[in-house]
Amino acid sequence: MRNKVTILGAGPAGLWTALSLQEKYRDIEITVIEEEDFPGGITGSFQYKDMIFDYGSHRLHPATDPDLLKKIEDMLDGDLLKRPRNGRIWLEGRFISFPLKPADLLFHLPFSFSSGVVLDSLGSLFKREKEGITFEDTLLAGLGKTISNRFYFPYARKLWGLPQAELSPVQARKRIASGSIGKMVRKAFSSLKGASGDTGIFYYPRGGFGQIAQVTASIIKKHGAGIRYNTKAISVIPPANEKKGLIETEDGGKIETDFLFSTIPVTDFVRILEPAAPPSVTEAADGLSFRSMVFCFLEVKGSQYTSYDAHYFPGADTCFSRLSEPKNYSLAEAPTDRTGLCFEIPCSGKDEIWKLSNDKLLELVIGDLKKTDLPKPEIAGFTIRRKKNVYPVYDHDFADRLNIIEGYLGTLNHTVSLGRQGLFVHDNTHHTIEMGVAAAGCLSSDLHWDRKKWADYRELFDSHVVVD
Ligand SMILES: Cc1cc2nc3c(=O)[nH]c(=O)nc-3n(C[C@H](O)[C@H](O)[C@H](O)COP(=O)(O)OP(=O)(O)OC[C@H]3O[C@@H](n4cnc5c(N)ncnc54)[C@H](O)[C@@H]3O)c2cc1C
Repeated sequence: MRNKVTILGAGPAGLWTALSLQEKYRDIEITVIEEEDFPGGITGSFQYKDMIFDYGSHRLHPATDPDLLKKIEDMLDGDLLKRPRNGRIWLEGRFISFPLKPADLLFHLPFSFSSGVVLDSLGSLFKREKEGITFEDTLLAGLGKTISNRFYFPYARKLWGLPQAELSPVQARKRIASGSIGKMVRKAFSSLKGASGDTGIFYYPRGGFGQIAQVTASIIKKHGAGIRYNTKAISVIPPANEKKGLIETEDGGKIETDFLFSTIPVTDFVRILEPAAPPSVTEAADGLSFRSMVFCFLEVKGSQYTSYDAHYFPGADTCFSRLSEPKNYSLAEAPTDRTGLCFEIPCSGKDEIWKLSNDKLLELVIGDLKKTDLPKPEIAGFTIRRKKNVYPVYDHDFADRLNIIEGYLGTLNHTVSLGRQGLFVHDNTHHTIEMGVAAAGCLSSDLHWDRKKWADYRELFDSHVVVD
């Protein structure tokens, strides 16, 4: 009888665990369980009328490992486009290019901002880069008062819902690649020289970002894995010694398994374990939070709204943090008379905005858009989607809580949590794909899990820094 491996979640981490296991072992029976009706998790795309939308701006970054990039290119068979980045940020009442460039900070912003950056930079010449005790002091040390107070602190509060002093310094290390003026200058020079890791380009599938997940899912299905969509895992008995594990699903299904990978939010995973995890573990899970996001998708008249792929809005004056125009990513020509816009509104599931009716949300977005220089869109239609777990929030207690949870998960047999939500990390798509590949590499054909090798990979994952 074939060994059975079950994977919870058909996002990039789950799909690539399945794909890599199939490539290694043809004799394992693989089942992927996904609560949505499409693959890709938040990297998925959906069709609205004759347009393809992603769940917020998604790009495959050039930091992707070259072998992995080549593999994705081959899988997409000519559909992976290499595109120049063309983003802007709304800062101090005007647009400048994003990612930030020193020249813009110096010459295209109000004098008080530019002179502040110069003074902060002079001061930073005599300081060593170091991680502080909070997100706030780490950024102040690296970027100085001006960029921190007038850009990153409001942006952090908007994205993660906490003031800078309440965020862990790990958030700065993981989320802000240019965490010092020195790094920002080096990055600007290396992109000028076209060095590898170039920040000036990105990769994007012709059929929407979700095409990567769709193609991956169809390959693993072709090779015999089962993917059950619309199937939510609601209870998990992990495999123990010679006994199979059992996953129960919301539709009344029961799936036996010899090995289990979970890529669903680790906070949910510990709550559905049977027997129940100790109270210290569920309390730790209760103490961890994810930010949620409301996506407002507009169908707008005209073939193009602006020539930019994304606009970033760090300030509290607008409810949205980013606006993207999918046609400018995919080079799609159709429809010729309309284009799509996606507004990302970060929030908590307890916020009013999360519960607002669709019409009220549209009103809010359009009202806030008027506060910027962007043209008034002629709206032909709109749709709203909500996602509960988008950004992990790193407050000062998150690491201790996560340690408690991971310590407990480490005692379970044949059960591994991975992926962005499974490890409570901020990682990019390429990072989570690499996690799936790494996880498959730690499992032998007789289902021996190499804990040492996985621990080494976890150290490597710890060095991931998110690219925006
Ligand atoms: C707004 C936004 C923009 C981003 N932009 C970029 C970008 O430009 N470039 C980039 O590289 N990365 C980007 N990312 C990050 C990228 O989306 C993630 O790295 C990636 O989605 C993580 O994949 P994953 O498989 O680990 O998790 P997920 O994609 O979250 O997959 C988890 C899956 O589990 C499913 N699930 C959850 N609970 C259950 C359950 N009980 N039963 C069954 N299934 C369940 C979910 O439906 C989901 O499909 C962005 C993220 C966000 C939020």
